[in-house]
Amino acid sequence: VVFQAPRGTQDVLPEEAAYWVFVEQTARDWAARYGYGEIRTPTFEETGLFLRGVGGSTDIVEKEMYTFRDKGGGELTLRPEGTASIVRAYIEHGMASRPQPVRLFSFVTCFRYDRPQRGRYREFHQWDCEAIGELDPLIDAELIMLLWRVYQALGLRGLTLQLNSIGDEQCRPAYLERLRAYYQPLLPTVCGDCQRRYQTNPLRLLDCKNPPCQAAIAGAPRLLDHLCAACAEHFAALRAYLADADIPVELNPRLVRGLDYYTKTVFEVWPAEAGAQSALGGGGRYDGLVAELGGRPTPAIGFATGIERVILNLKAQGIAPPALPAPRVYIAYLGEAARRAAVHLADQLRQRGVPTLVAVGGRSMRAQLRQANALGVAWTVVVGEDELARGVVQLKPMAGGEALELAPEAAVERLAAGG
Ligand code: AMP
Repeated sequence: VVFQAPRGTQDVLPEEAAYWVFVEQTARDWAARYGYGEIRTPTFEETGLFLRGVGGSTDIVEKEMYTFRDKGGGELTLRPEGTASIVRAYIEHGMASRPQPVRLFSFVTCFRYDRPQRGRYREFHQWDCEAIGELDPLIDAELIMLLWRVYQALGLRGLTLQLNSIGDEQCRPAYLERLRAYYQPLLPTVCGDCQRRYQTNPLRLLDCKNPPCQAAIAGAPRLLDHLCAACAEHFAALRAYLADADIPVELNPRLVRGLDYYTKTVFEVWPAEAGAQSALGGGGRYDGLVAELGGRPTPAIGFATGIERVILNLKAQGIAPPALPAPRVYIAYLGEAARRAAVHLADQLRQRGVPTLVAVGGRSMRAQLRQANALGVAWTVVVGEDELARGVVQLKPMAGGEALELAPEAAVERLAAGG
């Protein structure tokens, strides 16, 4: 048999790794500037956490979870997203007694049984940020600015911030009545999913992508026009901060998160051409979730951005990440005594921070030099038998030019100083 990576998963090879490191380090750097601390949570959780925390009427819970029973009979699920676990950890570790809000970030591997396509995988990675314990719209602004500044620092261009408010328990129920009343006569014209959403999760009617439903959506009442005073004020403050931050905001009344514990602010970042199906990231306020998961009522907001999606956009825009350290020195030799000296020399170079490879497998000198070339090192150190007898090694600059003859200690000094 020849094995292949499972459908919807990907290998990241060393030549790709520079993109991952670039994105992760930029995210870490900016997270620190905004005072976010790292949290790492388990890859699987009790299934019940996601049933409650993601919500029973979502696509994730209805169709996409990797759920299994372990040998002890536990009902477990590979995490489909990061927020539920982080909120669980906030409650479990009594983080409500720390200075609020608690600002957390995490790099999470996520699993969703979805139809794989460009930018959509069954195993994927998110950078997740959550600010738990504060209602002030300043926190919404900070969190969105953090995400935006990371995209900017990566060099991405042409993005827009899609922004909406979905109200709260004060204003949303009356709006949902209005929305249902509007949709009722239109039900025969909309898709089966929407007919179901009408019953279970009417807010989600607004983000249906099916063509036959678009006319109904276009005429639907907008929650933005029916916010209560508190939600309207929160939204206005947020928009003012974002305007000061020079972030191009597009109000998008169709942007929703269809669960009761999502409140007020919702947002996504879209690339220039593609729109919702290819959002780079998104998030929102979830002032009801901590209580839903058994904590005291606690306001919170978060986002997630897909690392694979960010990398696709970097490539599409021709942005190259900084190169990762690669071997700079290759040590070639002939004979057993020289081989032993080569191993020792390599060890000294590595201890001085110089990435170094030693020839292996008893190849001819020609073959060794060919390999040094193929590896793209800057220097080849040749340890020959007669040089060894004279107490010197040869330094060959691979870009061309004169070889140098130096004592091994002097060679180490020179290469450690940059060659
Ligand atoms: P969500 O948790 O669905 O709001 O997704 C947040 C971000 O994660 C999206 O904007 C994408 O960048 C990324 N994402 C979500 N689902 C997938 C997937 N199946 N494959 C790759 N990236 C994904």
